[in-house]
Amino acid sequence: MAPKGDNVVVSNMKLERLLSMKGGKGEASYANNSQAQALHARSMLHLIEETLDGVQLNSSEVPFVVVDLGCSCGSNTIYIVDVIIKHMIKRYEALGYEPPEFSAFFSDLPSNDFNTLFQLLPPQANYGGSMEECLAADSHRSYFAAGVPGSFYRRLFPARSIDVFHSAFSLHWLSQVPDSVLDKRSKAYNKGRVFIHGAGENTANAYRKQFQTDLAGFLASRSQEMKRGGSMFLVCLGRTSVEPTDQGGAGLLFGTHFQDAWDDLVQEGLISNEKRDNFNIPVYAPSLQDFREVVEADGSFAINKLEVFKGGSPLVVSRPDDAVEVGRALANSCRSVSGVLVDAHIGDRLSEELFLRVERRAASHAKDLLEQLQFFHIVASLSFA
Ligand code: SAH
Repeated sequence: MAPKGDNVVVSNMKLERLLSMKGGKGEASYANNSQAQALHARSMLHLIEETLDGVQLNSSEVPFVVVDLGCSCGSNTIYIVDVIIKHMIKRYEALGYEPPEFSAFFSDLPSNDFNTLFQLLPPQANYGGSMEECLAADSHRSYFAAGVPGSFYRRLFPARSIDVFHSAFSLHWLSQVPDSVLDKRSKAYNKGRVFIHGAGENTANAYRKQFQTDLAGFLASRSQEMKRGGSMFLVCLGRTSVEPTDQGGAGLLFGTHFQDAWDDLVQEGLISNEKRDNFNIPVYAPSLQDFREVVEADGSFAINKLEVFKGGSPLVVSRPDDAVEVGRALANSCRSVSGVLVDAHIGDRLSEELFLRVERRAASHAKDLLEQLQFFHIVASLSFA
């Protein structure tokens, strides 16, 4: 059964209320720093289509319901929902069926910038017209849209109401930093570090446990919400190493220049050691095994596909030889996903200082970053067992 809201501890609620990617359309916003995710998602389209080919078609009287979990506020979610719906329409038409009406739910935590997202949505096609007219008008959307605020680690939808669940680059976000990681008396206390990359084994294991508990809550909720013939396509950051202290691309992003920039602030006397140690990035890049164990323990889902996918670099730059541009790209991409948490921990002014240092440090290692920074993703396609 899905965990109930009443059981959630306080620190958990705090992260849920706070976490979001950087909203708006500014330089460090998620909307302006998610081209890499867009490219990685495009290179996986064949895998999504495979999943969609396994979804059961309903009568055209019943709306077909698609959900994007962890939609954020950029245009990636709009693109992918469009891909999913167009593919399903094609499937209906290929069989000579009238396609149903489509409903799309964009879901994320309540602090997500839903306003920016809604403004990016193309206008709705005129529903008086035919589906052909609707598809021909490319800049229009052929679905009813709604936003759903809440954590995907709990129930979000009525039972048996969803045909397709999609979630990209979101499930590596934990529901909370494990309490033991913040407890000075615990062996898992993450002394001197802001992420688990290169941290002690106990710290990394506490993160692993949190990831697996969270994913279990996610699957238990979806197993109630998904229609019997539905499917789920999940992508999150992953790692190829067995050791959770080697977080791969996420490790390079949060465990090197970002870590050093926090140490700079401590050494310059701008923040205390303790202030740094109390900040931890609530991200865990699982191995295939970490992920598989949870799906198997849950037992509701058949694994159609579960693999590690090489996504490529998170840095999209126009002039790779320009170290300054590379440094800025790394700082912006780090800031677009962690800036809200950093601002809340040390305030806007020190956060500005921190990301300036990330930028400078990254610029002086531009060549290495371009060569070494690679993201791997866990890709899972699941339907009912
Ligand atoms: N899917 C988008 C955005 C990924 S960014 C894309 O492909 O570009 C990751 C998103 O996951 C963020 O918007 C973050 O707020 C969301 N997220 C993290 N934890 C979440 C949770 N517990 N419940 C719902 N959304 C969550």
